[in-house]
Amino acid sequence: MSAESTPRKLNLMVWAQTGEAASGCTDVLELPRLRADLDLSGPPAPPIQWQAQVQQREQTGGPPQLWLHLLAQARLPLSCQRCLKPAEQSLEVDRWFRFVESEEVAQAEDDDSPEDLLVFEPLFDLLELLEDELLLDLPLVPMHESCPQPPVPGFSDPVEELADKPHPFAALAQLKKKSD
Ligand SMILES: [Zn+2]
Repeated sequence: MSAESTPRKLNLMVWAQTGEAASGCTDVLELPRLRADLDLSGPPAPPIQWQAQVQQREQTGGPPQLWLHLLAQARLPLSCQRCLKPAEQSLEVDRWFRFVESEEVAQAEDDDSPEDLLVFEPLFDLLELLEDELLLDLPLVPMHESCPQPPVPGFSDPVEELADKPHPFAALAQLKKKSD
């Protein structure tokens, strides 16, 4: 199965039969709701890495259940609430979901189930789920652990200043050469 080419239209039943894990890299720019929460003024964010697998589990006294395991790693630039500069936030998703046949069943069983419930769709949008999970995991108040030093007005880097001017000893060396 080529999940990487169509992670937005995965045929769940076919996928469950193969038992294969699907994996891929997704650019944050492909996830518009997540993108809206990011500070993209800095260097581009690395792609989000994800892996997913669907399992069909037999259960006594009922039809088999469909489960999905999603793993993801992301490093997202959020706007630091202290200095307003981009602050990179690492997120990891490792979650199990169980598919149910309808929204009604999902609501009825949600309180009793430790796993998250998803409504079954023949063609499943994995990136939509990935985006939902990352949005849930975003910190409410993102902040640097320690903010980069704020720029001081009129501040100039002494190292750069030295590089611009000829070194005083270089001139001296020239003089010495001439006198030799
Ligand atoms: Zn900061």
